[in-house]
Amino acid sequence: MPYPTATHEVFNQSTEFAGMDLFAGHRPLRDCLIALAPEQDTAPLHVLGCELGNAEVQQQARLANRHPPRHRPFDRNGRRVDEVEFHAAYHALMARAAAHGLQAAPWARPPGAHVARAAGFLLFNGVEAGVMCPTSMSYAATPALRANAAVYADWSPGLSAPAYDPRPLPGPQKAGLTMGMGMTEKQGGSDLRANTSRAAFDQETPWGRCYRLTGHKWFFSAPMSDAHLMLAQTTAGPTCFFVPRLLPDGSRNALQIQRLKDKLGNHANASAEVEFDGACGWLVGDEGRGIAQILEMGTLTRLDCALGTAGLMRHALALALHHCAQRSVFGKRLIDQPLMRNVLADLALEVEGATALVMRLAAAVDASSHGRGGEHEAQLRRLLTPIAKFWVCKRGSYFGQEAMECLGGNGYVEDDGHGPMARLYREMPLNSIWEGAGNVMALDLLRALRSVGVAEALARELYALRGAHSGAEALAATLPDRLQRCDESQARRLARDVALLLQAALLRRLAPEGVFAAFCAARIDAASDVFGQLPPGCDVGLLLERAMP
Ligand SMILES: Cc1cc2nc3c(=O)[nH]c(=O)nc-3n(C[C@H](O)[C@H](O)[C@H](O)COP(=O)(O)OP(=O)(O)OC[C@H]3O[C@@H](n4cnc5c(N)ncnc54)[C@H](O)[C@@H]3O)c2cc1C
Repeated sequence: MPYPTATHEVFNQSTEFAGMDLFAGHRPLRDCLIALAPEQDTAPLHVLGCELGNAEVQQQARLANRHPPRHRPFDRNGRRVDEVEFHAAYHALMARAAAHGLQAAPWARPPGAHVARAAGFLLFNGVEAGVMCPTSMSYAATPALRANAAVYADWSPGLSAPAYDPRPLPGPQKAGLTMGMGMTEKQGGSDLRANTSRAAFDQETPWGRCYRLTGHKWFFSAPMSDAHLMLAQTTAGPTCFFVPRLLPDGSRNALQIQRLKDKLGNHANASAEVEFDGACGWLVGDEGRGIAQILEMGTLTRLDCALGTAGLMRHALALALHHCAQRSVFGKRLIDQPLMRNVLADLALEVEGATALVMRLAAAVDASSHGRGGEHEAQLRRLLTPIAKFWVCKRGSYFGQEAMECLGGNGYVEDDGHGPMARLYREMPLNSIWEGAGNVMALDLLRALRSVGVAEALARELYALRGAHSGAEALAATLPDRLQRCDESQARRLARDVALLLQAALLRRLAPEGVFAAFCAARIDAASDVFGQLPPGCDVGLLLERAMP
């Protein structure tokens, strides 16, 4: 409890943002759940929303970032141990995420579970993004593991369990398991064919063909994961391997951490550089088909990047609204100043569009994973993955800067992590870079749109715009011709327009008419370079009312 000072009274500062249900306060997200997974019980999301909104969890997020992981290469007697030590708050957050089924639990649950998990992941990411990296990779690795049936049989129960178990034990002995991925090397991250790590066949085992891997990985996040999917070259080309941290007999696999990365943000999460000499890796899928195999995991982490940024945006907006509703300038609350209302409503509009896009992608993942929705959902998943990853993540950094500015100087000040806005801002660029940076995503979209059925799936989704807004219809009509003529240099331009049209079409279905109209006016009829340019006639009151936490 603050105590009074002798020199002045502290007033006109906002209160701490705590003691609320973050799911209840996220109206656009709740609307998406109702429309996209109506059979889902949302009570667990309210429980999670209350936990994330309480001061204790926010304190854990602060501590996990202020006390980043440390590499401990040797024990005190000089034996190589390669431990990474985390603050207790990190472990508490990991346990909470697992308990809420944010890791691989949906793979063992009925339809709709991926959508509910996406909502939980989005909310959690707004409060602490670092622990969401291993959480996401564990979710994403699980279906890719099916290509080695024996490993899958032993590991999928632990991956799907709503439990976190950091003990260094062989996988099948643990209550809960986590996994990571090792693709990027010094000479290339986007171009995985350039991988130089190599694998030589060693022996047949109960888990199938075991190889010895030699080489390095330049980015290797969550090195304390129980296993990683990794790429290495065989004579047939890049191949995917399952590389556990501990071998089935309990001994350490031959993987050495060289150091942890010193990163702009994402401080709670460890990202390592590793080398390996004769590490055991079990074949997953076919030799020479490793890139396609590991990208089965990569497409799901791309979903989580987009969900994560939508979550960061939402949390930054909630903090901005909370502050502006309490802070007065020139005789009025900030939230009542016409120009600030425009800025906040424009940010709220961005969250509406981002939430709709990422949740629709999650619904396509859910449907196609359960064989529902036929070809359309599968094609939509192919289309929406690069679009959501490109556009939502790309908008995040601009968004974070503007939300921070709503708090004035306080937004920029970290105060030992008590001011979370700076942390949110530092997280923003990361989702755009890892798992396929912006250009790679725009080029992937171009490839997707030129593959069988995807352009048709796009046209079907955009059907919702028919007769709804002439500008959107006109823009949509240009797409087939532009797609034919588009060379790589124009891929971002195409990606932006496809993203905006899809967001408009989704908002027409998922949000009130006033939100759709504002989106078309401010994103289709005019380019949104700087936030706060909603044209006259937009229903600012509606946008703010839906956004208030
Ligand atoms: C904090 C952090 C954690 C990470 N964790 C992991 C991990 O756990 N596992 C893992 O495998 N990787 C990880 N990565 C690596 C990440 O996925 C790569 O950095 C990313 O894929 C880009 O690869 P690169 O760094 O080699 O850059 P490059 O491939 O050199 O790309 C540089 C730039 O060139 C652009 N570009 C690439 N190809 C083209 C093209 N054809 N045309 C036009 N532009 C192009 C890219 O969009 C990018 O902007 C992590 C990265 C970070 C920052």
